[in-house]
Amino acid sequence: MGAKCTVCGKSLGLLSYISQGQASRCSECKSKVERRVERFGCLLNEFADDKYLSREEEQRLDEFLKNNNLRYSDIRRFGLKYSRIKKATRLEHIKRYEDATYEAGEDDLLSNEEYARLQALKAKLDLSEADLANINRYLFHLTTLSLVEEGILPVVDSLNLSLQKGESCHYRTFVRLVEEKRKNTFAGRYDGISIRLTRGANYRFGRSKGTKIIKDYSAVTDNGYLYITNKRVVFIGARKHVAYPIKKLVNFTKYSDAVKFQKEKEKKAKYFVLEDQFTIEEIGAILTAIVNQA
Ligand SMILES: [Zn+2]
Repeated sequence: MGAKCTVCGKSLGLLSYISQGQASRCSECKSKVERRVERFGCLLNEFADDKYLSREEEQRLDEFLKNNNLRYSDIRRFGLKYSRIKKATRLEHIKRYEDATYEAGEDDLLSNEEYARLQALKAKLDLSEADLANINRYLFHLTTLSLVEEGILPVVDSLNLSLQKGESCHYRTFVRLVEEKRKNTFAGRYDGISIRLTRGANYRFGRSKGTKIIKDYSAVTDNGYLYITNKRVVFIGARKHVAYPIKKLVNFTKYSDAVKFQKEKEKKAKYFVLEDQFTIEEIGAILTAIVNQA
C-alpha cells in the first residue's frame, strides 16, 4: 500500500519513500502549493514595503494561509522577513507612543485627559510595560511635575538622613560630587541656567546647554545621596557631608549634567552631577516649590 497525496489523494508511488518529508504531496500539488507560496511572498513583500505591518495586513496574511491550505512550514523561507517586519512594526509602535507622550508633555505637565489618551493608545498599539521602560520614566517625571505644580510634593524615604522634628524628605537621588579646587575658579564661566531662590520664584524648565561639568572642569571627589527636605538640601557621601539650609539658599543653577546650590557666602562651588535630565528638572521644580511654601 503506497502513500497518498494529502491534497488530491493520488497515489504517490514508491519513490515517495525516498524523498521523505515532501512525500505527502504529489508533484502536481507540490507545484500548485509552490505557486501559492510565491503569492504569499508577493503579498508579504507588498505589505513590508513601508516597513510596517498593520493589523489588517497581518490578518490578510493569516487568511491567505488559511484559504490556501498553507502551513507555516510551507512559508518557512519567509520566516526571517516576517519576523523582521513584525519587529519593525513594534518599534514603530513604541515610537508612536513615545512621540504622543512627548507631545502631551510639551508643557511639562500631564493632564488626566492626556494620561487617558496615552493609556488608550498603549492598548491600541498593544504595547507592554517592557516595551515602554524608557518612556515610563518620562511619564513618572511629568506626573511628579504636575503634582508639584499643584503644590503636592512627593514624600520619600530619607534612608541614612535623620530628619528633624517637622522635617519631611521630598526628594532623594544618587549623585556624584564635583568640587571647585580654587576659589572662584569657574563661577560664571559657563552657561548654566540660574534661578534665584526667593519667594515667588518661578522654575524655568528646559535643558541647559552649558558645558558638561564632569568632562571639562574637575574630577569626581565623592559619591552619595542628595536629599531635599522642606528644611535643607543635604549631600551624604562616602567621605563628605554637605548641607544647605533652605533659608540660606540664594541660587539654584542647572547644567546639562549637574546642579549647583548656592548659599549666601559660598566660597567654593560644589556641583552635583546627575546623568538624568528628568532628575535635574525635578530637583529644580521641587526646590522652587519648597522655597515658595517656606
Ligand atoms: Zn496531489
